[in-house]
Amino acid sequence: MFKNIPFDRVNWTSSSFLVITFFTAVIGTPIYFYHFGFDPFIIGMFIAFFIATGMSITLGYHRLFAHKAFKAKKPVKLITLLFGAAAFEDSALDWSSDHRQHHKHVDDEHDDPYSITKGFFYAHIGWIFFKLYPRPLANVNDLKKDPLVMWQHRHHQIIGLLVGLALPTLLGALYNGWVGALGGFLVSGVARVVAVQHCTFLINSLCHTLGNRPYDSRTSARDSWLMAIFTFGEGYHNYHHSFQHDYRNGVKPWQLDPTKWAIWTLNKLGLAYDLKKVPEEKIILAELRETQRQAEKQLTESKRWNISCPTREAAMEKLAELTERLSEGYSEIEQAAADKVALSRKTLAYWREQAAETLEHLTVLESLQPRMA
Ligand SMILES: [Zn+2]
Ligand SMILES: [Zn+2]
Repeated sequence: MFKNIPFDRVNWTSSSFLVITFFTAVIGTPIYFYHFGFDPFIIGMFIAFFIATGMSITLGYHRLFAHKAFKAKKPVKLITLLFGAAAFEDSALDWSSDHRQHHKHVDDEHDDPYSITKGFFYAHIGWIFFKLYPRPLANVNDLKKDPLVMWQHRHHQIIGLLVGLALPTLLGALYNGWVGALGGFLVSGVARVVAVQHCTFLINSLCHTLGNRPYDSRTSARDSWLMAIFTFGEGYHNYHHSFQHDYRNGVKPWQLDPTKWAIWTLNKLGLAYDLKKVPEEKIILAELRETQRQAEKQLTESKRWNISCPTREAAMEKLAELTERLSEGYSEIEQAAADKVALSRKTLAYWREQAAETLEHLTVLESLQPRMA
């Protein structure tokens, strides 16, 4: 868990902030509630600031600035930069630089800034403890041309203090004197910063450790519906690493992605435009390719067991047949995409069903695998 941590290069400013806020939140918040009770105003302000700052990270820092998954009018940029600073996750410029580096070199021990190969703790928070400054920032030249981004980059600490800590303290004071001020500072300020930060950090740690990989199992990125709940839709991380420029992370109708809904709404209001969306054909191709990959892996594995068992052999034969069938589907969809022929929803649904059947069969074959004694 703690392997390869460079203890000789601790970044004391960031480390102190993370440690002090964490302990202030976990010790101070229960004491506050014990003494002053659960005030709906303080709780409501915690939720409001959690949504405002959390969404500024997912919608602003991540999808708008780091990935340019859509374009936005100035008010959207300004609000996400102000409340993004209040999450205390660095400036949008620094954040985007690290994040672009993560996508480009994912799982690389040296070049991925929060590589999971260095352990869960390092990917979660350890990398910030040991991050050396200043960053090279060579991969964010486009963002450097944006005056608003540069203004926030220069003043993000003071903006963070004003919007993230002073504002909830002031609102609390206006509501209920010093008790309200303390609640605003402790609960909606400090505890909320810690909550938002760890939700973001869990994308780098948990979403690279637990979950499904329906689009590409060659990277550690995973889809987690549970994480999507706490991160406004960012939990569908396997999809995101496969199609990083899509403004959506949860693309299935049943997947929870409030950031996507917010961007869609901003678009309808005329505040966001040029929303980038991966065509359905491309998504299905990735799913078929991944299913084939898994089936082939299972077949190779099964062939290694030289134990004669008619049920297993029949299952292997069936899986080989289904895999072959998927190749046909892959070619058909690929050809249609190349010819720019739109395939019917029915055809795409059919190939999706075929992939699901293959995966089901794969599980059957897996259960027939002889176990080591
Ligand atoms: Zn990632
Ligand atoms: Zn990303």
